[in-house]
Amino acid sequence: MTTISDGADTDPVAGLTDLLEAAAPAGVAGRPDSARPARRLAVVTCMDARIDALGDLRLDHGDAHVIRVAGARIVEDVVRSLHLSTAMLGVRGCLVLGHTSCGLHDADGTLAGRLRALDPMRRDWASFSDPAEAVAEDVGRLLAWPHRPDPWAVAGGVIDVADGSVQVVVPPTSA
Ligand SMILES: [Zn+2]
Repeated sequence: MTTISDGADTDPVAGLTDLLEAAAPAGVAGRPDSARPARRLAVVTCMDARIDALGDLRLDHGDAHVIRVAGARIVEDVVRSLHLSTAMLGVRGCLVLGHTSCGLHDADGTLAGRLRALDPMRRDWASFSDPAEAVAEDVGRLLAWPHRPDPWAVAGGVIDVADGSVQVVVPPTSA
C-alpha cells in the first residue's frame, strides 16, 4: 500500500473497501468476553498513526480502554469517555500518553494561527508548546477530577514515535 502525504490521489472508496474486506471474519476465538478492561486501566493517547497503543505498551486485547484524541489532551469528549470507563466499567487508573513530533505541538508558536485559519470559530484545539508539560498538566487535571473514582491513580508519559520508548513524565500517582 502506498502512503501519499496529502491524499490527493488516493481513492478513499477503494481504501474503505479493502479495509472491510480484510476485516476478521466472525467466529474468531479468544476475544475478550467482557467490556470491562481486564487490567482496569485506560490509556489516553493521540490518534497519530505511528502509535500502536496496545503493541507499544505490551497490552493484550481487552486489557485497557484506549481513548484516542488529537494531541492526547484531556478535552471534553475524553472526560465523557472516562466517566463511562470509571463509573460503569471498573477503570481505576489512567495513563496519559503524549508523543514526540505531535501535530499539535506548537514548537515555534505558529501553529495556533494556522489552526485558527482552519476554523475561526473553534477555540479548543488544545495545542501545546511542550509535550511533557502538556502531559503533566493533564495528569494534574485528572488527579483533581471531581468525579474520579476511589481508588484512582494517574500516570503520564511521552512515547517516542521513532523507537517506541516511553519517557515517564509523571510516575503513577494516587489521587
Ligand atoms: Zn499527536
